[in-house]
Amino acid sequence: NKRHKVTVIGSGNWFVTPPKKNKLTVSVVRGSTIGKIAAENTKAHPELFEEQVQMWVYEEEVTHEGKTEKLSNVINTHHENIKYLPNIKLPTNLVANPSLEDAVQGSSILIFNLPHQFIHKTCATLKGKIVPYARAISCIKGVDVSDEGVSLFSEWIGDGLGIYCGALSGANLASEIAEEKLSETTIAYDPPLMDNSRNPSRNATPRSATPARDDPRELSTTPLADMQHRDARGRISKTRLTAVPPEYPPLDHDTFKALFQRPYFLVSMVSDVAGTSLGGALKNIVALAAGFVVGKGWGNNAKSAIMRVGLLEMIKFGKEFFGETVSTATFTKESAGVADLITSCSGGRNFNGAKLAVERGVSVQEIEQKELNGQKLQGTSTAAEVHSFLQKRGAENDYPLFTAVFDILEGRKTVDDIPAILAKAQS
Ligand code: NAD
Ligand code: 13P
Ligand code: CA
Repeated sequence: NKRHKVTVIGSGNWFVTPPKKNKLTVSVVRGSTIGKIAAENTKAHPELFEEQVQMWVYEEEVTHEGKTEKLSNVINTHHENIKYLPNIKLPTNLVANPSLEDAVQGSSILIFNLPHQFIHKTCATLKGKIVPYARAISCIKGVDVSDEGVSLFSEWIGDGLGIYCGALSGANLASEIAEEKLSETTIAYDPPLMDNSRNPSRNATPRSATPARDDPRELSTTPLADMQHRDARGRISKTRLTAVPPEYPPLDHDTFKALFQRPYFLVSMVSDVAGTSLGGALKNIVALAAGFVVGKGWGNNAKSAIMRVGLLEMIKFGKEFFGETVSTATFTKESAGVADLITSCSGGRNFNGAKLAVERGVSVQEIEQKELNGQKLQGTSTAAEVHSFLQKRGAENDYPLFTAVFDILEGRKTVDDIPAILAKAQS
């Protein structure tokens, strides 16, 4: 029997901004954090996974003990990412690999953890190089808008590679996780029935009112047949999936839980990929608003009001634009919803950046340029993407907080306009 080979794609940027008085300190924790978790678990579950986890590292030169060396060499020799995750010992079975093609060879589980601007190119490079029955998990927080509408990065990856892609998102400030401080996360994964053979609940509950005979998951009977499946919006996907060969352990909820759950990293498995992805993306807009009001000198009550209204807009957006597949419970009960909102509005980069901008009387864009060492705040681009989507539909007024955040970023409104927006949201 075969075991799954796991690859982490991307130097996986999980950012952390430790709150410091009136100062924005940015430490960047790269994919080593999620790679560390996966490598600890492949070691713990030899019946499911090959022990070695490959991590594609976008190669760069670093200075180590006075010498210039390649980052991947340093990681593999010293088992520490001295640049992005200093003082954290990485498992010896986590192997940094500067070659993307080589890192994914034969891997049936791909974990995507790279800046979204590189997804397209990375998927183009990967096409035809991965095994056809691979399954992916996207850890990327954000959404993209094009003329065709709003799309999730899990959809980009899945459609781009012709594989199934789920999502991992939660209240996950990466430095805390790297230090093995307690966190929860949500993993959304909902492939066709065949991959879920050990999950009887998936068989028992039909997803929608669709008659069972029309459910594409019911159609596949031979293990290696091309499978139709429904995408995160409940539509029949253009991508036809190749089933995981029977000699492998099933790629189901139990297997993914085994890959990610640690005593300090508690995983909740759900089926709502769109809701989980949207939670991680939309909370960044709300975190900017929370930073605005706190930067203004208003207190915790104001911030809580922003979070309340923001959560309602997040749910409304999910229900309105992602059909019947998005569940309100993902936002209200899961780490990827309300808990990520809370942690991001407490100590995330978007919150701290927006707060500092108002305190200094400068734009968020200026803070981003001056204080973030060239890194991008995810919330600013998400606010712009969401605004452009809403505007095309004439729906800006239905989302007054999302709209106000974009208007403030663009200099068309100020923080002083927020009380009126909240007052309206009450009536
Ligand atoms: P960024 O501007 O920081 O990206 C720069 C990084 O990209 C560099 O470290 C470099 O190694 C890498 N890179 C440069 N060129 C590359 C190439 N051609 N191919 C691949 N990699 C290359 O981007 P960002 O703003 O940090 O984006 C971070 C991503 O991580 C976001 O998409 C976001 O969704 C996700 N993220 C997750 C969390 C979290 O869960 N805690 C927090 C923030 C961001
Ligand atoms: P920031 O990008 O605002 O730092 O949020 C981090 C995060 O996603 C925590 O879950
Ligand atoms: Ca776009």
